[in-house]
Amino acid sequence: MVIDVCKCKFTNLFKLEADFSADPIWCNVCAWSLDIEEFPLSDKLQKELLEWVAESGKWIDLETDSLKEDYN
Ligand SMILES: [Zn+2]
Repeated sequence: MVIDVCKCKFTNLFKLEADFSADPIWCNVCAWSLDIEEFPLSDKLQKELLEWVAESGKWIDLETDSLKEDYN
């Protein structure tokens, strides 16, 4: 599967990474942050991804860029 949404345009390698300044899907080749809305995900999967990013905010401390030791 080749998806024409990133800079290098020939990758089929992607990684997921929670990031609050960008969408959570990244190209493994050019490290381009992919627009989740252009990505051919099902609505359900897209929603789950966005929820996952929101969830990760509960255990990532953005100020120190580290995991919170004490979280609920
Ligand atoms: Zn790329």
